[in-house]
Amino acid sequence: MILRMIHYSNFIQGQFVESTHGNVITVINPATGEAISTIPDSSDEEVAAAVNAAEVAQPEWAALPAVARAKQLHVLADTIRAQVEPLARVITEEQGKTLPLARVEVNFTADYIDYMAEWGRRIEGEIIESDRPKENIFLFHKPIGVVAGILPWNFPFFLIARKLAPALLTGNAIVLKPSEETPNNAFEFCKLLAETEIPAGLVNMVSGSGAGAGRALTENAKVGLISFTGSVDTGSRIMQTAAQHMTRVNLELGGKAPAIVTKNADLDLATTAIQASRVINSGQVCNCAERIYVQRDVAEAFTEKLVEKMNAARFGNPLEDETVDYGPMVNQAGFDKVMALLESAVNDGAQVLCGGKRGADTSGYYIEPTVVANCTQAMDIVQSEIFGPVIPIIVFDEIDEALAMANDTEYGLTSSVFSTDINEAMNCVEALKFGETYVNREHFEAMQGYHAGWRKSGIGGADGKHGLYEFMQTQVVYLQRS
Ligand code: NAD
Repeated sequence: MILRMIHYSNFIQGQFVESTHGNVITVINPATGEAISTIPDSSDEEVAAAVNAAEVAQPEWAALPAVARAKQLHVLADTIRAQVEPLARVITEEQGKTLPLARVEVNFTADYIDYMAEWGRRIEGEIIESDRPKENIFLFHKPIGVVAGILPWNFPFFLIARKLAPALLTGNAIVLKPSEETPNNAFEFCKLLAETEIPAGLVNMVSGSGAGAGRALTENAKVGLISFTGSVDTGSRIMQTAAQHMTRVNLELGGKAPAIVTKNADLDLATTAIQASRVINSGQVCNCAERIYVQRDVAEAFTEKLVEKMNAARFGNPLEDETVDYGPMVNQAGFDKVMALLESAVNDGAQVLCGGKRGADTSGYYIEPTVVANCTQAMDIVQSEIFGPVIPIIVFDEIDEALAMANDTEYGLTSSVFSTDINEAMNCVEALKFGETYVNREHFEAMQGYHAGWRKSGIGGADGKHGLYEFMQTQVVYLQRS
């Protein structure tokens, strides 16, 4: 069922601007394979126009008290809340997540904007003791100027807020580039700005390919900070481009989260959390458990429970059936990657305990909920990000063995431990080399935390005070009195 076939235009200087060259990208509903919209494949000139508009709008915005900027963010949050259902449907149609999850994403986005706006009265500088008499040293936090926000497809609407809200609250302007897989919700977002008094040019949206519009944005010398969420490969390319102008980067990249389940774990809790982790958004979540290390004493009982829960997960077209647990993979490439990892694991001796195949409805990119046992640390399925409803299991004897395998990865985003023994759990936490660790809970971060990957999972982070301050630069002032 096609909701509509629509053409979107770039949003520059407060207007939807038709592209002059006519090159477009077609957006597909991954549940049906149907084309649902076209978007501009923006030229370098169009991207430059968006950056110029941001550069012009920024100083006046920065001159406002932070609390006045915050007021407009609160208006934006309320505007989003008034449109939850239509926005959720747009997200589901282009990305494939379930409608309940899309509604959560939209509401969470509004809450996130409110949360960041609440910092309007809380940003603090410093007064530093001087070596000299009659001198004060002040440290101010200042806006950077123009921020480029480059977005992935897995939580496309929320990621707009994760970049825009801290950027605007701290006095920056922003140019966003949505993923070419999920641009529709981003252009729908731009329509909501009309309900606010956020000035024209402060928020701009340009669509296009990564190699085209994405590259042009990161090459632009007027951009002061590139805030990027996406894959490690793209993050590495962006860093190389950013080096040309010494542009600051904030990179939220991929993960390969280990979950350690010890013999002291509450197995019901562990299997529920891990199943949810693999099923939510079809397993396409950066911080969710991607590989399980389970202690031999409980391996059989754990695996039995996990297989039972994975088998119970229902998938299908999320716009036709609101009760499915998950929808399709976002595209053919994502589908192919998961199937290739599964095939290589089986060739190397792994055993598929449930699932492992394409869903019967081949009009969408569906994959059955899958548990893979007899895995070894060297397998690709244990080393590479899966991003699908598939979970590999490795059995261990001693905790140190599990910790060594958990840390044996080029990623460092999240990790988790399941143990009711607080000493054991905290000893694991101390040894795990990851930016985020969940103990006896599901894999999801809070907006007041700090989501930041180690190693190849990123540079800098998002959320909370520490994420907010990354959108500012410091100025130290020495005031010598006579
Ligand atoms: P991706 O890297 O393929 O694309 C992300 C964005 O970068 C898209 O908008 C794309 O057009 C753009 N892009 C591609 N090449 C570019 C270039 N050379 N210059 C500038 N921009 C370019 O990632 P994806 O497939 O959209 O997202 C999935 C990945 O994102 C996964 O690896 C996932 O783990 C990661 N992710 C991380 C977090 C986090 O918080 N750490 C959150 C969500 C997703």
